[in-house]
Amino acid sequence: SADSDTEALLDALERIDERLHDEQAYLTELDSRIGDADHGNNLARGISAVTEKRDELAGKPIDEAVKTVGTTLVSEVGGAAGPLYGGSVLSASQELEGGLDAESAVAFAEAYREKLTERGGARPGDKTMVDAVTPAVHTFQRAVEEDDLPSVDALAKAVDAARRGVEYTVPLRASKGRASYLGLRGVGHRDPGATSTLFVLEELLATAED
Ligand code: ADP
Ligand code: MG
Ligand code: MG
Repeated sequence: SADSDTEALLDALERIDERLHDEQAYLTELDSRIGDADHGNNLARGISAVTEKRDELAGKPIDEAVKTVGTTLVSEVGGAAGPLYGGSVLSASQELEGGLDAESAVAFAEAYREKLTERGGARPGDKTMVDAVTPAVHTFQRAVEEDDLPSVDALAKAVDAARRGVEYTVPLRASKGRASYLGLRGVGHRDPGATSTLFVLEELLATAED
């Protein structure tokens, strides 16, 4: 039902909030290697602003609640990641108009990936969050649509794909975002945005498993 979808969203947001605060220093440390040392702080500020709106979110159907999450991230996170994370969530929220099920979750994931790549212009291999998002979304879609897996099993596979995507960023030289200014000095470090994407997906999986 509409209420239980939004309730599941609120559970997921609480977990993501806790995780991003736990990882705030680590994500900022990653960003200090290849960027300007603010990624963990940007996301922690953004997710706090989201969970502060829990009462407002609780009264909304899932698509409107997710849309509010997106607009809040856009206005609070800042930097490159704010419009990329927030704008993609905001735009993909339309796919949840009819509620949350395996089919609409796939549509949401695909719309998120499309908006992210359209807005940021990064391709897989550019050492950005796209390197986690792309394999995760494709794996999720295949697992639901072709292998007919229940969405929680599909999400578990997507998380594994995102984890491999994060490791794949380590030897890459960045060609988008701030990290691209570093050239070869950025080689040998995980991309912060790909890493935070993995953490968010891990918390979505933990919520789905409960
Ligand atoms: P800023 O770089 O403005 O300080 P953050 O540190 O919060 O912003 O976010 C950096 C992350 O944003 C990078 O690790 C990368 O994953 C992601 N990123 C930057 N530019 C792009 C882009 N054009 N497309 C996709 N992701 C990007
Ligand atoms: Mg930064
Ligand atoms: Mg910055």
